[in-house]
Amino acid sequence: MGTKPKLERVYLNVPFAEKDLVKSLGAKWDSDTGCWYVAAGSDPTPFVHWRPIWPHYADPVVKVLGLPIQCWKCHTATLAVIACQGGDQVAFAHKAVLQVLASQLTHEELADVGAGPLRPRFANTTGQSIWSNGCVDCDALQGGIFLRENFLASISQGQADLPTITFAKVPVDVLRGRSELA
Ligand SMILES: [Zn+2]
Repeated sequence: MGTKPKLERVYLNVPFAEKDLVKSLGAKWDSDTGCWYVAAGSDPTPFVHWRPIWPHYADPVVKVLGLPIQCWKCHTATLAVIACQGGDQVAFAHKAVLQVLASQLTHEELADVGAGPLRPRFANTTGQSIWSNGCVDCDALQGGIFLRENFLASISQGQADLPTITFAKVPVDVLRGRSELA
C-alpha cells in the first residue's frame, strides 16, 4: 500500500478512429487497460480535445476506500474501489473518479488488496465502455449502480469504516461530480 500518490500516467478518451492521430502526437498505448495515455509530466495542450482528466500536484490528497463484495459472476470475494474521503467528506467513486484513480493505482497495488484493475469495460446496460471496477478473479464489470446503492447504504447506516486502499490526488470538481465526464 503506497502513501505517496503516483502521477505517472494520464489516460485519454480516444475514439478508435482517432488512434493514429493521438499516436502521432506522442500518446502511448497501454495494453493492460486498453487505453491511450501520456506521461503525467507532458504538456497537456495537444490532448485537450480528448478531454483528459488531468490530475495536478495541487489537487487534494484523498483516502481511497474499498468495499468488500462478492463478484456477481464468479462469486469470488473481491474489493471494489467505492469512495474517496477528504476530511469528513466521503464521495462515491463514480466513473470519472475511477478514471483519475487509474492514473495513480497500479494493477499490482490493486491486486495486493484483492481488487481488480480500474479500466474501461463494456456495460450492456448503457451500451458503452465505462471506467469501472472489475472482479479480481474474472474481471467482470462490477456495476456502478449496484456499488452506489451499497455505498449509500454503508454511509446512511453508519457502518464500520470502509477499508483504506491507498491515497490519491483527485480534482475537487471531479469528486463533486461536476466534471463533464462525470
Ligand atoms: Zn468474478
